[in-house]
Amino acid sequence: MDGFVKVNSADNVAVAINDIEKETAFLDGVCARSDIPRGHKIALEDISAGAPIIRYGTTLGYAARNIRKGEWVNESMLKLPPTPDVTRMTFSAMAGWDFPHTPPKTTFEGYRNPKGGFAGTRNILAITTTVQCVAGVLNIAVDRIRREILPRYPNVDAVVPINHAYGCGVAIDAPDAAIPIRAIKNLMDNPNFGGEIMVVALGCEKLTADRILGEEDNNRDNVIVLQELEGLEAMIGAISKMAESKLKRLNERKRETLPLSELCIGAQCGGSDSFSGITANLAVGFASDLLVKAGATMLFSEVTEVRDAVHILAERCVSREVCKKLADEMRWYDDYLEKGRVDRSANPTPGNKKGGLSNIVEKAMGSIAKSGTAPIVEALSPGEKPERRGLIFAATPASDFVCGTMQLASGITLQVFTTGRGTPYGLAAAPVIKVSSRTSLKRTWKDLIDIDAGTIATGESSIEKKGMELFDYIIRAASGEVMPAAEKYGIANDICIFNPAPIT
Ligand code: CA
Repeated sequence: MDGFVKVNSADNVAVAINDIEKETAFLDGVCARSDIPRGHKIALEDISAGAPIIRYGTTLGYAARNIRKGEWVNESMLKLPPTPDVTRMTFSAMAGWDFPHTPPKTTFEGYRNPKGGFAGTRNILAITTTVQCVAGVLNIAVDRIRREILPRYPNVDAVVPINHAYGCGVAIDAPDAAIPIRAIKNLMDNPNFGGEIMVVALGCEKLTADRILGEEDNNRDNVIVLQELEGLEAMIGAISKMAESKLKRLNERKRETLPLSELCIGAQCGGSDSFSGITANLAVGFASDLLVKAGATMLFSEVTEVRDAVHILAERCVSREVCKKLADEMRWYDDYLEKGRVDRSANPTPGNKKGGLSNIVEKAMGSIAKSGTAPIVEALSPGEKPERRGLIFAATPASDFVCGTMQLASGITLQVFTTGRGTPYGLAAAPVIKVSSRTSLKRTWKDLIDIDAGTIATGESSIEKKGMELFDYIIRAASGEVMPAAEKYGIANDICIFNPAPIT
């Protein structure tokens, strides 16, 4: 339909591609009854009070009042449907995976890791902290290392401090403390860090080095304790010296041609609008399917944004075990939100709503498009490392920087990030590729957006073409042939560990 996008033949609403003026008439007899902002919904037929409002072939909600054909359907006109029941989900409903496209490439240029597992896309020295108290000193040391030492090791891309808010003043034996502790431990093993362990501790914190390091790694070659040193200069000196010994080894790492089965990447969205689910997320889904078919591992996350579409994901789980773990993660998050006396309606954000997303069901249907159509081979708790390869659901909050951090802990070495409203988000430890859901964002943020998927809505491109373009860009970025904008300009958010446990 000209001017609007209708996703599924069962839909009784469609989304405006551009701002629509009142009384604009369209081919099939729909006439706008008011101005309708770009990205917002128009009723394609009369919808009586209590009847379902359908987009993506799914009930987004029930009409709060009678809605007339041609009316602007906004969030005040929808009543939220009940949350899908996770105790009764069908799994393994996919009779084989039918994805007829052939990946144009099955290798990339990456850094193999001494400990095995996934390969790196970058060669980075990470310096982990056990507590926020040491961050100020570490930052001074890192500045000096970057200026004075790093230039001598040209095969190393960066030195990244893993500063976080965990470590002390926390209920470290609370059951949910397992999540932040696991995240910090697994972050050190990120394939971009080449197996080098370097920890800066204070000396009196609760998160002692033995909680995050195995016995073989917990020694003076890898751990610096600031309280054992005499003053700032000694601290900076000790950190610089240890960093140099690690940089020497990292500098020996060279890129080599590796199968895509060595690649683990993540996807998430931030600042979504109603185009996200018809352009950018679908292009990511197509690229994800190509990657998975080529043997790569692809993580998608954001519990609150898949919760309302979880029954659809369950059908794609390969086994009862995977489906059960998926349901367990949803249940854990339901309880977590309930404790805070919020529910899923706390998402979407005001910006999402301005972009045309009426409620969390609509956001979820758009969000899961990122996962493509491949079977789901594993579900992970926050910050867990995968044991299988293929498409994986990694449970994390939807918050961009928390999701980014927790996916890094799970081992992603590159992230694809879709945005409709626009956010300058980035990660220091892995390249982030930004995909815009609409062309107007690419126009205003031309230096921040890597790929514009908005052309899918206008018909200038297609999901398949954009997906292929993105696949190609992902392989080139993973191989170090191109630098996505966030990496090029050094735009990086802070590490934000998910800590659902009490702080004391
Ligand atoms: Ca997000």
